[in-house]
Amino acid sequence: MSHSLPLILLLIPYLRGVSGPKPLTSQRSLPGIPVSLKHFPDLRTSMDGKYKEIAEELFTRSLAESEMRSAPYEFPEDSPIEQLEERRHRLERQISQDVKLEPEILLRAKQDFMKIDSAADLEESQETAGQILLSSSQVPFTDLLDAAKCVVKALFIREKYIALSMQSFSKTTARYLQELGEKPLELRVYEEIPETPVAADAPVHPPVSETHPYEGQDPKNMPPDMGYGCKMVDGVMHVYTKRSTMEKSTELDLPYPDLQEYIADMNVMMALIINGPVKSFCYRRLQYLSSKFQMHILLNEMKELAAQKKVPHRDFYNIRKVDTHIHASSCMNQKHLLRFIKRAMKKYPGEIVHIEKGKGQTLMEVFESMNLTAFDLSVDTLDMHADRNTFHRFDKFNAKYNPIGESILREIFIKTDNYIEGKYFGHIIKEVMEDLEESKYQNVELRLSIYGRSRDEWDKLAQWAVKHGVYSDNVRWLVQVPRLFDVYHTKKQLANFEEMLENIFRPLFEVTINPRSHPELHLFLQHVVGFDSVDDESKPEQHIFNLDSPLPANWTEEENPPYSYYLYYMYANMAVLNHLRRRRGFSTFVLRPHCGEAGPIHHLVSGFMLSENISHGLLLRKAPVLQYLYYLAQIGIAMSPLSNNSLFLSYHRNPLPEYLSRGLIVSLSTDDPLQFHFTKEPLMEEYSIAAQVWKLSSCDMCELARNSVLMSGFSHKAKSYWLGPNYIKEGPEGNDIRRTNVPDIRVGYRYETLCEELNLITQAVRSEELETIEEEDSLSMAPVPGGR
Ligand SMILES: [Zn+2]
Repeated sequence: MSHSLPLILLLIPYLRGVSGPKPLTSQRSLPGIPVSLKHFPDLRTSMDGKYKEIAEELFTRSLAESEMRSAPYEFPEDSPIEQLEERRHRLERQISQDVKLEPEILLRAKQDFMKIDSAADLEESQETAGQILLSSSQVPFTDLLDAAKCVVKALFIREKYIALSMQSFSKTTARYLQELGEKPLELRVYEEIPETPVAADAPVHPPVSETHPYEGQDPKNMPPDMGYGCKMVDGVMHVYTKRSTMEKSTELDLPYPDLQEYIADMNVMMALIINGPVKSFCYRRLQYLSSKFQMHILLNEMKELAAQKKVPHRDFYNIRKVDTHIHASSCMNQKHLLRFIKRAMKKYPGEIVHIEKGKGQTLMEVFESMNLTAFDLSVDTLDMHADRNTFHRFDKFNAKYNPIGESILREIFIKTDNYIEGKYFGHIIKEVMEDLEESKYQNVELRLSIYGRSRDEWDKLAQWAVKHGVYSDNVRWLVQVPRLFDVYHTKKQLANFEEMLENIFRPLFEVTINPRSHPELHLFLQHVVGFDSVDDESKPEQHIFNLDSPLPANWTEEENPPYSYYLYYMYANMAVLNHLRRRRGFSTFVLRPHCGEAGPIHHLVSGFMLSENISHGLLLRKAPVLQYLYYLAQIGIAMSPLSNNSLFLSYHRNPLPEYLSRGLIVSLSTDDPLQFHFTKEPLMEEYSIAAQVWKLSSCDMCELARNSVLMSGFSHKAKSYWLGPNYIKEGPEGNDIRRTNVPDIRVGYRYETLCEELNLITQAVRSEELETIEEEDSLSMAPVPGGR
């Protein structure tokens, strides 16, 4: 495939978006598009007109996979290694002397100062405790202004895509951005679904419904057929008011992002993450955030602890936690699965579970064919735990999903779609649900797969859930789509990529237009909160997504489309679907992909633009600009350090404690308890190990748990019970320590710090007069107290 562009396409970045991102236009310009036009501030930067070249250069480099010392988006360490080592040793000696004299917290602060790598930074971060001084000798002022503009521009880009798809954007960030725009961006375009407010003194447990959501549901009582028709055009579903005439005149106005504009915005993002001054600026801000947090701990750790002790009854054990990233097929631990298999062999030995060469095989026969009895089975023979051989070997890890290495057992026990219609899998999930309900405070968001190989996958999945009554108040579903087009294409199951998209999305449109057409799916979707995109991110990508890329219907080659291509088309269809569902008063979905676990950096760029929150985000540690942006936009990151430890990054190098200290919204999740955990409460195991290895305080743990609820897809109502009726408000006002066990002082610190950062960058953009300040003056950008 050719990567060269015709001249007119090369000109597109010049023709559009020269002064900041334009308001998003839908591909049709029908009246009443519910995205308001907005006047943007002047966000011209020195990079304007060069975005495309810079972005393509970076894409190309990521293809080359060269073993560079540092990638272009990283911040290079300028001191020679020996010097650094010397200073480290000196500090270590000093600390070991001080250890007898000083309390733990001081020691911790010092250890963190050691992480700051250049002498200049060390001096500066000590200065910055109260206010940050950005000396023009290090970052020239025009560069600083440029950097602030770039950061603001990136935030506007995210806001645009998130608003368009009806996902949620940080309230605080939106408020600061709004002050820059002349007209507010209308995020709420449809009427709010009325809800009874939760009282301030309500119990922490939401009322439990008496009836099972799947029982006694008559399709006749479901909302009526709207009579709409739908058709996929260039990879995105379009909806028409008539089934007979599916053309422009009957088209429903459901906005989604224009492909050209998306590519242009992506190029802007790619260019700014490698811009030198922007990188230095963001790197410094992140260092400052780390140091500031240390200062907060030094000053306030005891106060935080005292506030927690004052709360009656509440402690870490009885606050709400959500496992924000866990796959259904591996949500039970090994011992549990083993016991379940043994029980099934006793209970249903004669049940036909599988068809082998046209002949039914009973469970007993399956085991006999493997020369195994119930007695032989042990956790060791099951062999599903990740071990040292899976590190950096995703293929070996995938094979671990097969009990005893036999894919047939995987099919029988942990699939929803098999000869017994997922009966065993349904049972075992229900056992996991019972354990969760018993523990009361633990909740999970399980991932189930839709592959996009055939049109009936959704119906089968929904029938599985409804038939076996697989539901719990403690569980919500996410649907994961494995990026395996190339595999299905090779097997001749799919002719082109558009077929895959149609298989994934058409049933969802049909059921939204006429719930009675897929009654089970209609019920099931009420508990599905969003979409996940999964696969090994470290697989090399051969293709650069640009305007030259084939449209989905023309994607007929062996090659797998790149990550950003998958994400864009999933996002675009989801945006259209959300608008349609919202019109009918149905639930909407969010995008929460696996992102930044490994692989090229542009995965995190796509994630930043298109998704409500992400899983993993490990590579943000290497990209200061993106990390700072994820902070400013308060994008949730579900992190699974134990999983990473077996696959991609050893535990002690995991960036979670660093992200947490800087104020990124991180939560702890298990990913695959079957492969990584040993106990009946894998989420507690995850918290326990993190707390011990990283010496997290009780306040840190409760903050992580609160984050997990905030970023989860549980209902507004459930969150109101769990976190407090005002949880949606900004700052300490939104916190209820009696429910969260997080002291107001911590929430207040996070809020003020965020306001200060947002103020810093928006002020730089706003203050034209600052430009007159002479270069040699050091510019003091004292924080203005957060706008409360
Ligand atoms: Zn995962």
